[in-house]
Amino acid sequence: MTTQKKFDYDAIIIGSGIGGLITGAYLAEQGVKVLVCEHHKQPGGCFTSFKRKGYTFDGGIQGCEDGGVFLQLFRKFGLFDRMEFKKSHFAIASPDFFLRVDSVADVGAFYRKLKNIYPHESDGIEKILGDAQACCEFMFAFQEMPNAMFAPWKEALVGFPGWYRKHAAAVKYAPDFFRNLTMIMEDYFKQHVSDPDLYRFLCQMSYSGSPASFGLLFLTFLMDYYHPMGGVQVIPNALADYITEHGGEMKYKTLVEEILMEGDKAQGIRTAADEIYRAPFIISNGDARRTYLKMLPPDAVPEPYKQELRRSVVSESFFTLFLGVDIPPEEIPTRGCSHMLFFPDYKGVESDAYKGTGDVDIYTRGPIDINVNSIHDPTLAPEGKSTVVIQTGAFAEFADNWGTKDGKRTKKYRVLKEQVADRLIATAENVIPGLSEKIEVKFSGTPYTFERYTLNSGGASAGWTFHPQKAMNSGLKFLTGFNPPVKNLFQVGHWAMSPGGAPSGAITGRIVSEIVKRRLEWGI
Ligand SMILES: Cc1cc2nc3c(=O)[nH]c(=O)nc-3n(C[C@H](O)[C@H](O)[C@H](O)COP(=O)(O)OP(=O)(O)OC[C@H]3O[C@@H](n4cnc5c(N)ncnc54)[C@H](O)[C@@H]3O)c2cc1C
Repeated sequence: MTTQKKFDYDAIIIGSGIGGLITGAYLAEQGVKVLVCEHHKQPGGCFTSFKRKGYTFDGGIQGCEDGGVFLQLFRKFGLFDRMEFKKSHFAIASPDFFLRVDSVADVGAFYRKLKNIYPHESDGIEKILGDAQACCEFMFAFQEMPNAMFAPWKEALVGFPGWYRKHAAAVKYAPDFFRNLTMIMEDYFKQHVSDPDLYRFLCQMSYSGSPASFGLLFLTFLMDYYHPMGGVQVIPNALADYITEHGGEMKYKTLVEEILMEGDKAQGIRTAADEIYRAPFIISNGDARRTYLKMLPPDAVPEPYKQELRRSVVSESFFTLFLGVDIPPEEIPTRGCSHMLFFPDYKGVESDAYKGTGDVDIYTRGPIDINVNSIHDPTLAPEGKSTVVIQTGAFAEFADNWGTKDGKRTKKYRVLKEQVADRLIATAENVIPGLSEKIEVKFSGTPYTFERYTLNSGGASAGWTFHPQKAMNSGLKFLTGFNPPVKNLFQVGHWAMSPGGAPSGAITGRIVSEIVKRRLEWGI
């Protein structure tokens, strides 16, 4: 692609999360001269790993759900030649229950357990199980669909009839799936169960306000996990290499502070080091509020859009505890599963409690996610030892913003962190007895830690809330989400569509790269 003289690049991407990298990979592959600026020292955003005292920890997402997207996409970019991808197994458990989640039959086993605990809710649970199985069957079929968005379109077209014949029985569940996509999870569960404990328990199956389909699919999502040998960071590294090998440029430790306008068009950026780079197209992969409220001149963004940005709610964050433990991976009692969702009881904790005044004991009652990626990849820990990463949902608002003052960490912040970490260790000891005595390395991160590294407001893990009425760019509105009201500026990643998450980076990256490439070709 030929860049006009006044421009340094054809396109500049702000941020190298999975969305920015996929956009960059598609563009660079097409000969578009692309620059990716990343404020952190490495690519990936929420796809990140780091080393501490001989242990390699995955810092954000703990694996990669295919979702019918990533395997096709990685194949397309030849990434399987650069990384070894392993299926990593999930279990769900409670003090008296263990289930490795592998197939639709396991969905039945989970709901049968709930029927034993709540026999008076049998009819409602049976109905939920039926819907969950239907969604699961549909999702399995969808994941195998030759997708013209990611596979070569001719291959997708030729493969479609065969796919349809194979999955006709599951495709008939599509109306159930889409009906439940338009309903909010909490409303759906309220319709089917009345016991408040069961209702609260079920509402933990997805982010609050999710479409009901997401709550019903939570076990299906757990069956879809993959992990690259060497840690999650291998994925963004491979994509960044792909970009540079195709003529693109990656700049790390480069915070973009300003998007430069020429007339009514975004045409460049200014970095914190006062460097200026110009391009006819600017693509933001960063936090939407930061991009449109702080990085652009105030009059460049229409007032109603700014109001919507301020009004919209961001998604949940996480509290994460990183442990290096002196236990061989084969002795971690998760029966070979690298991930386990552990429920301390069947009563659950309301999502809003995690925004509350600071009752740290909720962290002994809510579900925790125990990730021991060294089970399938022992190279992540020193020989005979394991990495244990414990995650649980959290909000930036908890305990008066975790005791921070003017955005700064205080003594109260550090005490709270320690208290929450200890509660999580106590809960995890139900799964790994004696864990606390085997810890060699211990540190933790709050929503503010995620905010610091990814620049996502409140440490939001998936962009906007999953609640369609409280999010920007929910449902079909993502068609405007990637195309904000500033000419020649695009948005990719989880802020461009709700529900967000890793697949949103791939979907929006694919679409935006195609639009930018065509506009460059056509000179418009
Ligand atoms: C703990 C955790 C667990 C998760 N688990 C799952 C899961 O199981 N399944 C799932 O689908 N999703 C999961 N997610 C969500 C998923 O990881 C994210 O939604 C997705 O990776 C977001 O990608 P992104 O490209 O939109 O942005 P991000 O990953 O947020 O990356 C944005 C990048 O832009 C950079 N940046 C921002 N502003 C600037 C600037 N001004 N200048 C320079 N650089 C900038 C940031 O440093 C960052 O690297 C999880 C997230 C977290 C945190």
